[in-house]
Amino acid sequence: MSADVEIAVVGAGLMGTATAWAAARRGRTVALLEQFRLGHDRGSSHGSARIVRRAYADPLYVTMTGQAMALWRELEQESGRTLLRITGGLDHGSRRRPDRIAAVLDACGVPHELLPAAEAGHRWPGLRFDGPVLHHPEAGTVDPAAAMDAFAALARRGGADIRDGTPVRRIGVEADDLVRLETATGTLTARTVVVAAGAWTRDLLDGLVPLPELTVTQQQVFHFPRRDPATAPWPVIVHKDALSTYSLPGGRDGGPDDGRKIAEHDAGPRTTAAGRDGRVDPAARDRITAYVRDWLPGLLPEPFNETTCLYTSTANEDFVLDRVGPVVVCSSCSGHGAKFAPLIGEYAADLATGRPGPDPRFSLAAHGALSPHR
Ligand SMILES: Cc1cc2nc3c(=O)[nH]c(=O)nc-3n(C[C@H](O)[C@H](O)[C@H](O)COP(=O)(O)OP(=O)(O)OC[C@H]3O[C@@H](n4cnc5c(N)ncnc54)[C@H](O)[C@@H]3O)c2cc1C
Repeated sequence: MSADVEIAVVGAGLMGTATAWAAARRGRTVALLEQFRLGHDRGSSHGSARIVRRAYADPLYVTMTGQAMALWRELEQESGRTLLRITGGLDHGSRRRPDRIAAVLDACGVPHELLPAAEAGHRWPGLRFDGPVLHHPEAGTVDPAAAMDAFAALARRGGADIRDGTPVRRIGVEADDLVRLETATGTLTARTVVVAAGAWTRDLLDGLVPLPELTVTQQQVFHFPRRDPATAPWPVIVHKDALSTYSLPGGRDGGPDDGRKIAEHDAGPRTTAAGRDGRVDPAARDRITAYVRDWLPGLLPEPFNETTCLYTSTANEDFVLDRVGPVVVCSSCSGHGAKFAPLIGEYAADLATGRPGPDPRFSLAAHGALSPHR
């Protein structure tokens, strides 16, 4: 039986829009189905800034960041939009182990330097450090709202049929491996389906694909004003000490004076996509405000806005990218997936078109969920 499209993609967050672009530019027929409006704020990809960086203590991810950076540049070139803002990156704190990351960057040929705390404090006034600091220049931010717009526009230009306001109620696999997607407005058939549904993954795939434990948490994000908005923004920062935090220039969400986005990477309260309440916990606000006072004295210690966002995490923070029959699972970006989005789109398109998948660490089997029909 013939299908309406070769590849259906469910979910138009960063991963789904990136997949639609990757598949459309390979000349495949693609439909991208999103339950809400494009760019909505109920999932994981909204807002104006996410960290991009090369610094990981794991050579696999360092290599992937390099591939993703090249693809971001391609996306900028093809869309004619500026999406990246390069500021450099700083990593510090006893639990971050900057020396360990430096050794991996060394082995991977990524430029970096390890600085004593006093020298880093001198170079970046308004920041405090208490141990060695890793600096690497190839880091900064990507604008996820603009990136999703660019992915979708290029996918559409490549012929993709993008439908928002179209919840997929059920995915079924027929005897001949044809995929049938039941939506609020009718049925669509496809040769393969890529499920990039973020925190809704289990709702769609339970009973169809064996999934590992996927933990959905509500994370809380704050923007703080800079004391001196005339100065150049600091690099993006990952700091793991008593708290595990990250901070970055906020882009549009940071207001006209480029306020700083700050959040804890430690898991927020457990929730579900449908059950999350969107409320910021006052205790989290107090922790981050105290953190700003202690570590970021160049900011005024009072947030001027705050929001929530969903992490969907695996136990070890590795992604899930695998195929079972005609169903591709593209999920669990565990709070650090944005920087890889165009690469994850390529991986998902590879899996959807029958090419080998990415590193076996991302397979369902590696996550403890068997994929018997591969
Ligand atoms: C606060 C926060 C900060 C972060 N910071 C960083 C960072 O600095 N650097 C970094 O690299 N990463 C970061 N991340 C992680 C990154 O943003 C996520 O990995 C990424 O956005 C995940 O995208 P996604 O497409 O998988 O999920 P989502 O964006 O949630 O997209 C899933 C989509 O599927 C749709 N959908 C679900 N079910 C259905 C259905 N049945 N029918 C139709 N559509 C459906 C949803 O509506 C949604 O639009 C951060 C995440 C958060 C929450």
